[in-house]
Amino acid sequence: MSQENLTFEDFKLNRQLLNAIEDMGWTKTTEIQQKAIPLVLSGSDLVGVAQTGTGKTAAYTLPLLRKLNYAEIDHPRALILAPTKELIIQVKGQIEQLSKYTDLRCVALYGGIGAKAQIEEIKKGVDIIIATPGRFMEIYLKGELVTKQIKTMIMDEADRLMDMGFMPQIRKILEVMPTKRQNLLFSATFPARVEVLAGEFLDFPKRIEVTPQATAATTITQTVYHTDNFRTKINLLLHLLTNPALTKVIVFVNSKAIADNIQHFLERKSEGGARAIHSNKGQNARINAIRTFESGELRVLVATDVSARGIDIQDVSHVINFEVPMVYEEYIHRIGRTGRAFKEGIAMTFATKAEELQLKKIEEVIHEEITVAKIPSEVAVPPTPKEELIAMARKFDDAKKLADPTFKGAFHEKKQRVDPKKKITKKK
Ligand code: AMP
Repeated sequence: MSQENLTFEDFKLNRQLLNAIEDMGWTKTTEIQQKAIPLVLSGSDLVGVAQTGTGKTAAYTLPLLRKLNYAEIDHPRALILAPTKELIIQVKGQIEQLSKYTDLRCVALYGGIGAKAQIEEIKKGVDIIIATPGRFMEIYLKGELVTKQIKTMIMDEADRLMDMGFMPQIRKILEVMPTKRQNLLFSATFPARVEVLAGEFLDFPKRIEVTPQATAATTITQTVYHTDNFRTKINLLLHLLTNPALTKVIVFVNSKAIADNIQHFLERKSEGGARAIHSNKGQNARINAIRTFESGELRVLVATDVSARGIDIQDVSHVINFEVPMVYEEYIHRIGRTGRAFKEGIAMTFATKAEELQLKKIEEVIHEEITVAKIPSEVAVPPTPKEELIAMARKFDDAKKLADPTFKGAFHEKKQRVDPKKKITKKK
């Protein structure tokens, strides 16, 4: 049987799970599910390289739920580590839906709120813990967690766990885990640092990968607009938003300041409202914005990469990269927000000259040239202010340096033209 034809019925899942899958309305298996489920059921350790939107959560939760079957003892038998509260809530939601015909219990542990209520929940008995490494260790050190029954350990978004500096806590957690267990590691990207973690964490793992280029090519239409400056980008964004086809839009930016700035423009000029989420906003404000966006009340969500990490929002019609991300892997994450499993999506990127190098790098990684779209004639293209030109020169240098660490930078070179005796910049 070809892999593409595998249905959920073809896996050795039980009736309770198959019924829950049917209730979810899932009729086909995704690529990562076809590859991962049989391996996880066979007991192998596994590295899965897959981004959100590929169905990777179910790829590890379904075999886990099959393995756990029913509530048995009161101590946890599985631990899922994830980097953010948002991702934890999402994974928990999916586990609850898939395990609804069983009595399996799942507890989420994350920071930002007191540990007391979470400890109370653990005390009632738990089969699966989903936690940030920090909060898990905090509760463990209070003596409120028994780890000796944990037979499955999963790390979700391992790349982000490492980027967020959780490695020391992860090492401590590994010390208190039983040695005999199954380990699964999922990561959207697989840079060297994740390989190091995989080496420490996994035992002769099988490796599977869902290539981002395949995901991008099959369901997401990508275009790029070459824009002169910030104001042109704003004008273009406002113009695009006059099209009612843009029903649910995430606008990605590289910094909190730009996120707030765009929100102000959008609030004044566009229909349907816009809100920004980033790490300076309180957890509640972020969760609120995400909820109203998810329900369709809010049309535009302006987000930084960190704030949007792991959020699974259904039916995002368009992703707009207001700025090209500095790290090309983020581009893949961003556009993955639209065109989720079996749905079509549209991703548009605004790039100034200063961002073209980053864009080229992205095209190399995704193995395709992003189609260039023409800026509509209605969009005003104001001249670029002097300060912005300087900022763009700096940005261009930064991007060049990122690509080539030996590059000194034209902009920074100019700064070196200072007479060391007089400490006055020479006039040209
Ligand atoms: P994930 O990659 O785990 O974040 O999943 C992305 C989205 O795809 C989630 O909203 C899931 O509910 C959905 N999903 C997962 N598996 C399937 C499937 N086999 N068919 C349709 N949707 C799915």
